[in-house]
Formats: sequence, C-alpha cells, structure tokens
Amino acid sequence: MTIYPIETGNFKLDGGAMFGVVPKTIWQRTNPADANNLIDIAARSLLIKDGNKLTLIDTGLGNKQSDKFFGYYHLWSDYNLDSSLAAHGFQRDDITDVFMTHLHFDHCGGCIQWNKNRTGYEPAFKNAKFWTNEDHWKWATEPNPREKASFLTENLLPMQESGQLHFLRMNQLPYMETSELGFGIHFVDGHTDKQMLPQIRYKGKTIVFVADLIPTVGHIPLVYVIGYDTRPLLTLKEKGAFLNYAAENKIYLCFEHDAHNQLCTVKHTDKGVRLDSIYTFDELFN
Ligand SMILES: [Zn+2]
Repeated sequence: MTIYPIETGNFKLDGGAMFGVVPKTIWQRTNPADANNLIDIAARSLLIKDGNKLTLIDTGLGNKQSDKFFGYYHLWSDYNLDSSLAAHGFQRDDITDVFMTHLHFDHCGGCIQWNKNRTGYEPAFKNAKFWTNEDHWKWATEPNPREKASFLTENLLPMQESGQLHFLRMNQLPYMETSELGFGIHFVDGHTDKQMLPQIRYKGKTIVFVADLIPTVGHIPLVYVIGYDTRPLLTLKEKGAFLNYAAENKIYLCFEHDAHNQLCTVKHTDKGVRLDSIYTFDELFN
C-alpha cells in the first residue's frame, strides 16, 4: 500500500467562524488572519494505492462553481487535483473509489464537473464508485436551513443519477472496519450527521484523516470547536473521546484543512490533550 497526500488547492475562511467561541487574540497565534480576518485553509485529499484499488479520500472544492462563488473563498495555490495526481503519475480515470468524509462542498465539490458543452454536470471520475452512507446522504439531500448552503444540489444529484453512488453498510458505530475500502471509519455527528473519518494502518503506523473534527493544528484543544458545527456539545464529547484515543494509541492525525501542517501526534498534558509533534508524509514514510 502507498498513501499520497493530494493537495487540491488552498482557500481561505473566516477565522472567527473557524474557531467558534474562541477569541481572535488566542486563535490568531496559531492561525494568523489576513486584513479581512481570513485564515489559510487547505483542501488536502489522500490517495491510497492498494493493489488494483486507487482510492481518493475527499476531492476539494472542484472547479465548476461561478467566479462569484469562488470569490468568497479566495483561492490561492499553484496546484490542483489534476496536477497533484499527475505529480505521482496518476490521472482521474485511474481512480477506482472516491470516499467522501461528508458532502459539504469543500469535501466533495471535485467529484462533479461540467460536461463538455457546459450544458450539465457529470462525475469527474468516470471509473470510480462514490462512497458515502445512507444517513448522511439523506441529511444532505433534505438539508436543514443551517447547512443548506454547504450541500450543493449540483454536487449531489449528478452523483446519484450517474449510478456511481454507493452507500457503506454501517454495521458498527461509532467505529467499524470496511471490507469495501480496506480501512476503518470513525463516525462523528457533531459537525454534520454521520461524518466519516478514515483510519488507515500504514507502514507500522495508524493514521486518522480528521477532516472537520479537527481542521488544523490550532484546533487541537478540546473547546476549539468550529462555529459551523451543527451540534457543538456533541463535538466536545466526540472530540474528547477521540483525542484521548489518539494520545493513548500514538495515532497520526492527518489534516485536511491545515495549509501548513500535514500530520501530527498528540499527548496528554495537565491542560488536556495537546500537540506533541508535527510531521510531513515525506519524513514519516519515505
Ligand atoms: Zn464540513
């Protein structure tokens, strides 16, 4: 098995929204804001090559939205999904499986693209199965007003119409192993219903892709919960349990949204679980 971090393109989000009740005087030490109060955000995917299977975990924002839409997100970076795949000798049509942690647009927007004549949408990975779970699909396709702007119809319906959409059987909560994908999944409900965090055993280490449970290194302290969460008190519970588990089992947290850090470990301290060490994929695995 080989795992490649795939940078799909960076963007920016409001620092206050990303840190909920934590004041700027505190969060700006780890996540400095620009003149518009925006902080750097990555959309990092993982690519797992395992035998004949080539699985992409999340796909970033994609490129089909309007300039006005992207104008809110201040895209910045010299790479995109295609250039990052190509850097490792892959292209979209090689992907056999796309696993989506959840269906917010910054995680699944890259799954769907304009068709050739820009008359409609089509899957951006024509040979892939798209994996979500039935509960989250229902949550996303019948959205509450709070999350409606994050679940874009143009990301969801073409996936279903293509026949490439698949639901993972949820046979054990809050953690299960999958036979379909070859890795484990932690289910968390605080950010959105049934977000899925992959846990992958790789070269003697255990990586968890922490997606929107812990977006950046700056979000490790328990109460640093993002303002977008639909059930913040539940996030506290889920995040607390996860941080203990990660500290006790030397889990390598892999960040989807941290533009400056790829992986880290955590440790118990007098103040609770905190950052231990930061790593890159290169230094850990090559
Ligand atoms: Zn999200």
